[in-house]
Amino acid sequence: MEIKELTIKQAHDGLKKKEFSAAELCKSYLDRISKKNREIFSFLEISEDLAMNQAKEVDEMISSKKEMPLLAGIPCGIKDNMLVEGLKCTAASKILKNYTAPYDATVTKKLKAQNALILGKTNLDEFAMGASTEHSAFGPTKNPNDLSRVPGGSSGGSAAAVAADLSIFALGSDTGGSIRQPSSFCGTVGLKPTYGAVSPYGLIAFASSLDQIGPITKTVEDCKMVFDAIKGKDELDSTSVELSKIAQAKYDLRNVRIGVPKEYFVKGIDPEVEKIIKSAIKKYEDNGVKIEEVSLPHTEYALPCYYIIAPSEASANLARYDGIKYGMSNAGSPASKLLDVYLSTREEGFGPEVRRRIMLGTYALSSGYYDAYYLKAQKVRTRVIDDFNKVFKKVDALFTPVSPILPFKIGEKIEDPLSMYLVDIYTVSVNLAGLPALSMPCGKAGKLPVGLQIIGKRFEEDKILEIGKLYEHF
Ligand code: GLN
Repeated sequence: MEIKELTIKQAHDGLKKKEFSAAELCKSYLDRISKKNREIFSFLEISEDLAMNQAKEVDEMISSKKEMPLLAGIPCGIKDNMLVEGLKCTAASKILKNYTAPYDATVTKKLKAQNALILGKTNLDEFAMGASTEHSAFGPTKNPNDLSRVPGGSSGGSAAAVAADLSIFALGSDTGGSIRQPSSFCGTVGLKPTYGAVSPYGLIAFASSLDQIGPITKTVEDCKMVFDAIKGKDELDSTSVELSKIAQAKYDLRNVRIGVPKEYFVKGIDPEVEKIIKSAIKKYEDNGVKIEEVSLPHTEYALPCYYIIAPSEASANLARYDGIKYGMSNAGSPASKLLDVYLSTREEGFGPEVRRRIMLGTYALSSGYYDAYYLKAQKVRTRVIDDFNKVFKKVDALFTPVSPILPFKIGEKIEDPLSMYLVDIYTVSVNLAGLPALSMPCGKAGKLPVGLQIIGKRFEEDKILEIGKLYEHF
């Protein structure tokens, strides 16, 4: 029996009605992975034993008629920068190639508590730095919609796994667009939660003031189920907050007002993408949603600001990979001095994009340049946040494209970092401001999917999910 193309909801109902067992469901996804993963390469490691053992527990739960959590028995993939105890966690880097996670990330713990089945670890750009998954030290993931194209990044493995039915849902992380952009490229639903909504404990840090973990799914309903399972205060992480304690403004979907920032539709956007996004917005309007043009005047500074702040934080976070504390080490020869161990391990262990970011960040933080770059970028960040605060006094959410271009060819941008960075133009502001945003499939150019970005106010993920859901019913 091959069970595939299920949403979480359908799989949950199927398990409950005993149409299939959790073991059958799990086996069916593992079989698909063994057939398709070589081609798509969305999984770096497959944890067959863990998943099958978890499935057995779920089947026992079903036969003893215990209450089943929504994610019980649901196969999922976890981006390989989040810890799952006993599995490798490489961040797609040579430097962590043989690193085994000694404990579970908080999100992993939460998924395990719901008895979700962990199929394996998904591919990413090394340390989540990239927009195509081509920067993985272990090889690129391919876009299931067109194997000659990238799936986006850095959570390309997670989005491709869901799009190719190798997993029902997956977790990604988003520092500057890494959940939303691959979701847009692969045709999945991806939610970047508000900063603080999901604990990053056990996530390999890239840029700690920007990183957030979130779900990648097929439907908005599934997205909400996963988000609800992973969100909330975590004693182990001081940035996390208890969402139930945050008062939500009451709203009626018929009265929501949505802003469309004019700065997001300027030179550089692919006309096909623009057409699809505008027709999606028109559908909302035709169905009674109030749409108005708004302005976020500092938009053009967000990308350079991000590319100062993210590498600066990364250069500090990645200092821990020194050949002594974690992973790969070139220590050992009695003659080697400590500094040589640091230098040779890092030179050999980090790929070119990671080294570029470390250099950019170290430069921006160095004395003499700190004020001109890092401090300035922090001031710009405040302007970007103010822009959002102002428009959110008038509107409930914003519609924008996720990416200015369609999924590009593998190899097309790899030699040109600047053009790769430009792909992030519509996603980074959201991270700078700590806002929640959804990437919602809203059409295709030929076989290539396009995502609509729905940006919300802080901690209003439920509202943007509801707005996204409307589109599924048009
Ligand atoms: N593409 C962006 C970058 O390379 C975002 C990455 C991310 O969100 N992890 O920095």
